[in-house]
Order: sequence, then structure tokens, then C-alpha cells
Amino acid sequence: MVNTPKRCDNRYCNLKPEYRISYPNGEIFFRCAHHIAPYQIERDNDNCMIESLIFDESWITEFEESSEIISWLNRFIEEKRLEDKIIEFFDDNHMHHLMPIKVITEMFESLSLANQKKIKDKLVVIDYHNGNVTHFFGYIGKCLIKSIQEGE
Ligand SMILES: [Zn+2]
Repeated sequence: MVNTPKRCDNRYCNLKPEYRISYPNGEIFFRCAHHIAPYQIERDNDNCMIESLIFDESWITEFEESSEIISWLNRFIEEKRLEDKIIEFFDDNHMHHLMPIKVITEMFESLSLANQKKIKDKLVVIDYHNGNVTHFFGYIGKCLIKSIQEGE
């Protein structure tokens, strides 16, 4: 019996799995609603079985809280007129990156609720002190690049 993992199998995703996909060869995958991508499953094997997992209410609360933070971030970016901003930063290997802020916010969505909260709190503090918000977005971009590089 396979235990349900805490996270979706997509390596950049921190969401709780909502579906179990079992293949006839015994392979089992756990995916969140965003990463179930049925077309992909059909392409691989149309004999797979997809079951919905029962999730507890604490996860629903967490999901709602995360959705609120994501909406907050999008409003924040709108209010600061940063929607079309390209964020420039260097990663730990001194590689130069130019990343549209939209890419950063998309990556933000797959972070754990705890990390989303930390980033939100930090942005609120920086904004309150009239600090450089775009500089902090560069820092977030750097952290996201790092987590991708470490995940590979
Ligand atoms: Zn996922």
C-alpha cells in the first residue's frame, strides 16, 4: 500500500495531491488539480486509473489562505504598476537574469503557504518603509532559481 505523499509529484509544486493515477505497470503518481493534465496521462497510457483523493478540511483552509495571498500579491503589483516590469538580478553563480514579474508571481503560486506568507510579510514591511520593492522581487527571483537548480 502506497502512502499518500504530502505534495503533488510535480517537483516545483507544493500543493497537496488531489488525484492518484495508477498505471497497469504498477506505477502510481499523485497530482494536484493543476498538474493532473489528463491529456498527458492519455498520451502516456490510456489504461491508467484516476482516483480522487479525500482531503481533510485543514488543507482547504490552507488552500484558501494561499489563494488570498496570491490575490493580494497580484493587487500589490497592480497598485505599484509593476505588471510589465522586468526584474533583473544575479544568481549565486553570478549569472545575470532578466525575468518578467509575471514569471515570478507564477512561481510564487507553487510555493508552500509558509513561504508565501514570509514573502508577503517582507513585502508589507519594505513597502511600509518605502523600501525598494523591485529589489526584493529580484531577491525572490534569485531564491526561485536556486530552488529549481537544487531540485534538478
Ligand atoms: Zn501540482
